[in-house]
Amino acid sequence: MRKVIVQKFGGTSVADTEKIKNVARTVIKEKENGNDVVVVVSAMGHTTDYLVKMAKDLSPVPSGREMDMLLSTGEGVSIALLAMAIQAQGYDAVSFNAMQVGIITENVHSKARIIDIKTDKLRKNLQEGKIIVVAGFQGVTEDGEITTLGRGGSDTSAVALAAALNAERCDIYTDVEGVYTTDPRIVPNASRLDEISYEEMLELAHAGANVLHPRSVETAKQFNVPLRVRSSFKLDNMGTLILGVDNMEIYKPVAGVAADLSQARIVVCDVPDKPGVAAKLFGSMAKEHISVDMIIQSYARKVSNTNDIAFTVDANDLDKTVAVLKKLREDIGASGEIQVDSNIAKVSIVGAGMIDRPGIASTMFETLAELGINIRMISTSEIKISCLVDKDQAYKAVEALHKVFELESDEIAEVKGDLPNV
Ligand code: ADP
Ligand code: ASP
Ligand code: MG
Repeated sequence: MRKVIVQKFGGTSVADTEKIKNVARTVIKEKENGNDVVVVVSAMGHTTDYLVKMAKDLSPVPSGREMDMLLSTGEGVSIALLAMAIQAQGYDAVSFNAMQVGIITENVHSKARIIDIKTDKLRKNLQEGKIIVVAGFQGVTEDGEITTLGRGGSDTSAVALAAALNAERCDIYTDVEGVYTTDPRIVPNASRLDEISYEEMLELAHAGANVLHPRSVETAKQFNVPLRVRSSFKLDNMGTLILGVDNMEIYKPVAGVAADLSQARIVVCDVPDKPGVAAKLFGSMAKEHISVDMIIQSYARKVSNTNDIAFTVDANDLDKTVAVLKKLREDIGASGEIQVDSNIAKVSIVGAGMIDRPGIASTMFETLAELGINIRMISTSEIKISCLVDKDQAYKAVEALHKVFELESDEIAEVKGDLPNV
């Protein structure tokens, strides 16, 4: 039986028609190797950002349904153009959107999870010798409503398709040459990793390393999909392989450093110190599909028997979170104010090698202290330590941590995009 290879090309790789021609050549090369090829593409260049901006010009909180209707159009353009480019180079290709394939998601707007992918149409077209181009980022509910998977979600579309088709591997082609020890836009001499474990990559992705969408790594781990991140411009470089931790040698305690600048911190003040309050508070968030990240509850004050609960959410969920809290305040008996701060960033170090190695956390805290950076919240997992700091200090913190944990290389990475302004 012929092998199926899934390839995914991000926005920068399909930013204009010349680049789309280049993608078509890469796709055809894989077909020429004797494989069946399914290609997933994102919207061209900054299309999605542009669509979001137009929506926000018209409405401060656009409805989730209409937002998904709008954002899904971006990928509709790039699939048709890529299929045409492949056909123009003499190969048979067909493009499908999520509805045509049957990429079924839960009924949630803007961050839906894929629950099933129908493969009949894909298999039939592959058997007919066609190269298939599928729209990333989008899905459809059982009732035929359009959904999207969250920003950066085309990676997840690709891995989920690879899992459904039992693909030989899933190659994520992007504008850097693989996964680096940190974002090479922050530290130009970051090191490219030949390999990294699913577990570390998942933590890094959650910590803000947006080279892979977190759910794509989760899906690859769950279904054992061999996943590779590589450059769409330098094809001779094999990039980074993401694989099970058991197959890896661990040399350094820290594998990578990441910053997440799109978080917001909320403090609910004077919350009664009694059972059930946290359950109600975070239960209400969960009902609204708001993911809560770091959480700190202060000690109860003796006189009032109240405490403060502080937590972080994605900055895009801030308005929704405040609305939920305002409604809930009376119900849980919180008598204080709700404080909001978007001027924060989460800086994290990740590494399977930090298990059972004391001193890693203290090195992190000392490094930040030497720079006069105040740590406002801390959270840890077995292989990650995250500190919440002021936003304008995030890049400085990443540079220093990258240095102290000896992650630099002698080479300067080639980068295409600019860093977000702080
Ligand atoms: P695409 O449009 O191909 O999906 P993205 O912009 O989503 O590309 O992801 C690639 C970008 O991720 C790179 O340009 C890089 O600046 C950024 N990035 C952040 N952290 C890392 C990291 N640890 N390794 C590599 N790239 C990273
Ligand atoms: N086009 C979408 C975005 O910009 C999805 C993706 O690029 O993966 O977020
Ligand atoms: Mg991306």
